[in-house]
Parts: sequence; C-alpha cells; structure tokens
Amino acid sequence: DLPEIDTGTAPEATPTRNAPAAQIAREVQRRRTFGIISHPDAGKTTLTEKLLLFSGAIQLAGTVKARKSGRHATSDWMEIEKQRGISVASSVMQFEYRDHVVNLLDTPGHQDFSEDTYRVLTAVDSALMVIDAAKGVEAQTIKLLNVCRMRNTPIITFMNKMDRETRDPLELLDELESVLDIRCAPVTWPIGMGKTFRGVYHLLRDEIMLFAAGSEKADQAFEVIKGIDNPRLAEMFPLEIEQLKMEVELVHGASHPFDLEAFLAGTQTPVFFGSAINNFGVREILNALLDWAQPPRERDATVRAVAPTEALFSGFVFKIQANMDPAHRDRIAFLRVCSGRFERGMKIKHLRLNREIKVSNVVTFMASSREQVEEAYAGDIIGLPNHGNMQIGDSFSEGELLQFTGIPYFAPDFFRSVRIRNPLKVKQLHKGLQQLGEEGAVQVFKPVQGGELVLGAVGVLQFEVVASRLMNEYGVDAVFEGTSISSARWVSGDDKRVLADFERALGHNVAYDAAGNMAYLATSGVNLKLTQERWPKLTFHATREHA
Ligand code: GDP
Repeated sequence: DLPEIDTGTAPEATPTRNAPAAQIAREVQRRRTFGIISHPDAGKTTLTEKLLLFSGAIQLAGTVKARKSGRHATSDWMEIEKQRGISVASSVMQFEYRDHVVNLLDTPGHQDFSEDTYRVLTAVDSALMVIDAAKGVEAQTIKLLNVCRMRNTPIITFMNKMDRETRDPLELLDELESVLDIRCAPVTWPIGMGKTFRGVYHLLRDEIMLFAAGSEKADQAFEVIKGIDNPRLAEMFPLEIEQLKMEVELVHGASHPFDLEAFLAGTQTPVFFGSAINNFGVREILNALLDWAQPPRERDATVRAVAPTEALFSGFVFKIQANMDPAHRDRIAFLRVCSGRFERGMKIKHLRLNREIKVSNVVTFMASSREQVEEAYAGDIIGLPNHGNMQIGDSFSEGELLQFTGIPYFAPDFFRSVRIRNPLKVKQLHKGLQQLGEEGAVQVFKPVQGGELVLGAVGVLQFEVVASRLMNEYGVDAVFEGTSISSARWVSGDDKRVLADFERALGHNVAYDAAGNMAYLATSGVNLKLTQERWPKLTFHATREHA
C-alpha cells in the first residue's frame, strides 16, 4: 500500500534536469495518440498501412500486411511466440506528419483479441472507428466503442470500402446513431458506390474530390473540383450530380453540423467516406486527427490530476507482453507517458514497489523498427524491460506518490476451469496463475466452494497463451475445460453482512479474483439479471480498477 501524502501540488523540478517548460509544452502540443476501433476485416490493417505511407514511415505498402498474414491461432508455442514478436513490432507505431508526432496504438483483433485490446484504449486520446460500409456496425465495434465511452474519447469515423457495393449511406448514419448512440456529423459525402463510385463531396469545404483507383505510392493527389455548382461537374457526371445535390440538401437538413466541442466530449463523431485500399479519403482523416483531436490532456491520479506539461516525468503501464523475442524470454511493459520528459538512463520510481529503477534499456516504437528511445513526452509510449515485477496499472514517477486511475480490468466473456495432470504441481499452478493474472494475461477466479480455479478471458487465444506459458515458465501441464459460466461481475456493497450472506447463499458462483476482489460468476444472462434483482443492496460491476 502506498503511504498517504497530504500535498496536492507537484514537487518542484530538480535543478539538475534541464527540460525547459516551453520545450515540453511544444512537444506535448505536437502529439496525437490514437487507436483504431473496428470489427475484423473492416480494413484496419490496410488503413494503418496507408497512414504510415503518408508519413513516409514506410516506403512501400505491404509491410504491415505481410506481418499480419503470418498470424493464425495455433497451439504451437513457438508459433505463438513468433506471432507475439511480430505483433509487438506493430503494437505502437510512431510517425511524424505535418510537424506532429503521431502515436498509433494497435488494438489487436482477430484471434489476438484480448483484454489488452480494451485496455489499449485507456491509453489513447482519440480513436478512429473504421466501418465496412457494406456491413455497417458490427459486434466488436460496439464493444470497443463502449470502452471509449468510459473516458469520453473523441472518435473519428471512416466508412470504408466505398469502391464496393455498400449500404445506403444515410442508412449507415442512422445505424451508427441508433446502435452506437452517438451523433453523426458527415464531413464528406459519397457520390455513388462500387463501380459507379465517383468521389466524395466535402460538406465543409464545398469541394469534390474525384475518385481514382489508388496506387501504392505515398504521395497521391486526387483531383479536386471546387463548388458543387461547378459546371464541370455537371458535364462529367450528368447522371449523378442531381442525385448528389438532393442528398446533400437532405444531409444538411437531417444531420448534425460538425461541432468541435461535441466531438471532443465524445458525443458526436465526424464521418468520412472513402476507400482505404485506394488511399482515398485517408489523408482527410489524418488531417482531422491533427486538426480536431486534442493533444494529451490531464490524467486523473489518486492524489491529483496530472497535467502533461508538468516538468516531472510520470506514466502508467497499460499492457504487458511476454516473450516478445523468441531468443529472450523477457517481457515488456508498455508505459504511457503522462507528464514531463523521459530520457534514457534517467531514474524513475516504481511506485507500487517503492523502488527506484534506472531505465537504460527502454524501447520506443518507430513505424519501421523497434528503436532505442532517447526522449519521450506525454502521449508517447515507451517499452520497459520487465522481469516479472510490473503489473497492469502500475504508475511510475520521478518520486511523487501517485496512482493513475482509469486503467480497468474488464469482465471476461469466455471461461475455462483449470485442472492439472500432476497434483504435486498444484503450488506451481497457483503461483503461475497468480503471476499471469497480475500481468493481465488472464483473469483467475477462485470459487468459494468447489476446488477448481476458473479462468476468464476476453478472447480465447488468451487461454492458449496461458497454457503454453504455464508449461514453459512454470512446468505445469494444465488442462482447460469448458464451464457453465457465461459472464462475470465484480460485486461490491457497503454492508458486510449482506456480502457474507451473498457468499453463503451462492457459494458455488461466488469467487475471488487474483487481487482478492469478490466476483459473481453467472451461468446465463437471465441468471445474472435475477441475481442482481434479488440482491439490490449489492452492486455488480463490469469492470474493476487496478487494485
Ligand atoms: P482488418 O482485419 O480490419 O485489419 O482488415 P484488412 O485491412 O486486412 O482488410 C480486410 C480485407 O478488406 C482485405 O482483403 C482488404 O484488401 C480489403 N479492403 C480493405 N480496404 C478496402 C477498400 O477500401 N476497398 C475494398 N474493396 N477492399 C478493401
């Protein structure tokens, strides 16, 4: 436990370190840190690649793609390890564009979908939502958007694949508004779709950008025609132009005009239409990100809010990844810088362990490779080598005691009970699961009644990774089996007696997690609802804060 401190102000910067306030302020102002939320196959990888192309961070398209194509779930540990190594390389991509420093944090999807995917979103300042315009809002998008909601993260929307037959654009906006409960402000509007996709009309700038199949080149300019009443347009698209004018009138009348404040409050999303694979409309969203989304802001901590421009360094760990390099069994802790200036070789304090560490071996993530970081500012992500003593949510500073908040654990969606073949190894099993639980690799629940531990995960690959790591790192051959549990909620209540009654009455479904928090393991949605109704004095939480 951290000792309490009574000061609400930041300590003075040490005179030995020389980071002029103006420089820190300038660097913070330049930074944008965001993640992409989307359902698998909506085009996240393609878009990421194009964004990197614009910045000149990669020379040729295909690089990100090639990384992705090697990924398939497999039980072979070496394979997973290799994939993990690969995904670390693209975990954070930093690039410069228009004199800004952009940090793009990967939100692993497909088989890699895990609690990390959610947690990454607690470390971003804005998000880009990619939607397949042929499909509309899909399941994973809803889940990820709900996570963004927790911090009112501003969201820019990209309707992708307009070069294909898509759904009606107005209908898509309608769906966004009703399913995701967010207001839409179209910024560009598509002219046609699929084979007759002509381009987009920019509602704010009154200009039309003509569609052309994109190349792989970094600098691609699409032809722009000024003014919807331009006679050239009528000449070029005699069939479409009347339709466009009608739609634009409708859109102006029926949708919300873009409102920067509503966007920053997370209640309205600007919507852009385009085609990632053709590079079309991608530059517009990157510009929107730089112009409209904010640089790093204040973050809440237990004692006070921390401003990004403060002189002293602070940050928190939001993700831990193991075995990134097959040659070394090391782990890496991903830390988001929240204030001050980080320099290689400086000493920072690991606040939970109250231990000072000197970090010389830090890594940063440039788009093309992992590199040694020299300095970092708020919004940047640095990778700390971790020998098993860092946990999700751990805070670091130059000495001030504070604990950043808002780095939750999320209620799992998948469950397995765990058994071991060799009962003599039960101690190792518990130790391994305790550590993997603390690291955030999986959630571990110990039911009050019944001996078997229950593991919970947000994505099923987590179980595979845990099984392999138990074997390799702890020598435990564990068997995972299906359970009747379908969801979990952390339980809290003011009245200790009620909690005790609850535990007694429902002991088979009441469990404690690795950090000692009480949870209810429900067998169905109905079961959860009934239990909540029967125990009105208790609160059931879908997330819990780092202990
Ligand atoms: P992710 O799963 O979200 O990362 O999606 P990918 O970027 O891998 O894209 C999924 C599929 O959609 C791939 O086959 C892409 O080539 C394709 N795709 C992506 N963007 C577009 C687009 O603008 N138009 C078309 N027609 N296909 C696209």
